[in-house]
Amino acid sequence: MEKHNWAGNIEFASAQIHTPQTVEELQELVRASRKVKALGARHSFNDIAAITEQADEPQQQALEPSPWAYISLDRLDAPVTFDHARGTVTCSAGITYGELCPLLHREKVALHNMASLPHITVAGACATATHGSGDGNGNLATAVVGLEMVTADGDLRSLSRERDGETFQGAVVGLGGLGVATQITLATEPAFAMQQEVYEDLPVAKLYDQFDEIMSSAYSVSLFTDWQEERVNQVWLKRRLDGQAGAAASSQAAALPVAADFYGATLAPTHRHPVTRFSPDPCTPQMGIPGPWHERLPHFRVDHTPASGDELQTEYFVPRGHAVAALQALERLKEQFASRLWISEVRSVAADRLWMSQSYGMPTIGIHFSWKKNWPAVAQLLPVVEETLAPFNVRPHWGKLFAIAPALVQAKFPRLADFQALLQTADPQGKFRNGYLDRYIFAA
Ligand SMILES: Cc1cc2nc3c(=O)[nH]c(=O)nc-3n(C[C@H](O)[C@H](O)[C@H](O)COP(=O)(O)OP(=O)(O)OC[C@H]3O[C@@H](n4cnc5c(N)ncnc54)[C@H](O)[C@@H]3O)c2cc1C
Repeated sequence: MEKHNWAGNIEFASAQIHTPQTVEELQELVRASRKVKALGARHSFNDIAAITEQADEPQQQALEPSPWAYISLDRLDAPVTFDHARGTVTCSAGITYGELCPLLHREKVALHNMASLPHITVAGACATATHGSGDGNGNLATAVVGLEMVTADGDLRSLSRERDGETFQGAVVGLGGLGVATQITLATEPAFAMQQEVYEDLPVAKLYDQFDEIMSSAYSVSLFTDWQEERVNQVWLKRRLDGQAGAAASSQAAALPVAADFYGATLAPTHRHPVTRFSPDPCTPQMGIPGPWHERLPHFRVDHTPASGDELQTEYFVPRGHAVAALQALERLKEQFASRLWISEVRSVAADRLWMSQSYGMPTIGIHFSWKKNWPAVAQLLPVVEETLAPFNVRPHWGKLFAIAPALVQAKFPRLADFQALLQTADPQGKFRNGYLDRYIFAA
């Protein structure tokens, strides 16, 4: 198993990666280890999943068993079970959306939303409040209705939305700090068909004038821009073909008509990659072709490498009402950062009640940057971008790169003190704590 993250900028070399096959084996491992971090698909760009050396930790002895353990659930034997009466599915926390969604579709049920790629695990995505787009769509963690995890003492603990109220809202976006999730229960809905279209060259003036209409014009709307001209390069619209329940599972849904123009943008003549000059082969079908929800909600196909494959990512969330002003401020800065960028993406996320979600208590707009992979250059740019966005009450994506001072990050999450208390109660010895949690959650 590779000992680094997807982008190759974070190493997981400080401890052995264990792959327990049973929950009992996992419990034993957690009991026997002094530091534990669960690894998902390792798609995060920062050290959120890394066990980082602390000043008070003894050096590792090469020949002694490590008291530090990474845990991957790749081999955990856990069935996927459906409760159709309740509209839920229970699965291994380590399953990827790419593995799970076809099983859901076969059972004629769907998730409300997906990220740009299906390669990430359910536990890893929910732990960082990973999101897709859509004015009415909460992030992926808002689908979680039940959670089972191995806690610091090796016990198995279950939490449910119905039973555990606020504690549950605190635990779902847990940043890997509460325990190793073994099973997750997600809310499902009847399967649906979708189609997506891409429009090119949306004039930015139109975007600023009619931002709300544009972002609410489909079930999920994504804007891709390289900030180079006075236009947004691409608008991706993902529309639901509701009322065709029978057709949804068989991909036989009738397509909605596709307009040639969208607020001054023109329909792309062929399938597109978000970076127009790249091959669209890794992307899900566009051109208004109907298909199942899980093959349209993500931008990237499960059987291809997503995105550019050679990048670092950053994302900031601004309250919906600040979106246009924040985009305009970034546009004024574009000369400084555009050449370092593959592409930016703008998406909307509905408000939720999950304590550590970036959309806690307010709808947000995510402004994402896929940087060309040059960390020294990106590291210099982040503070400049962040200073520009500072007046807009930004919250960073927990799984991407940012340079905002820990105290400022903490100040943006109104339930931080409750979350600290939740982690301290669940894990008084700090078994699941790492440098990242020490910095952004616990630093005074
Ligand atoms: C190409 C690419 C595209 C992306 N697109 C999007 C996007 O569209 N939207 C978006 O919001 N983000 C996106 N991301 C970011 C990504 O979704 C998040 O970083 C997500 O957390 C990655 O999930 P993972 O399974 O790789 O988890 P990891 O990165 O491995 O882990 C993330 C966190 O989850 C914890 N964790 C993992 N498994 C468990 C478990 N079983 N129990 C407890 N904690 C656990 C880890 O300890 C860590 O704290 C993208 C990343 C890449 C590389």
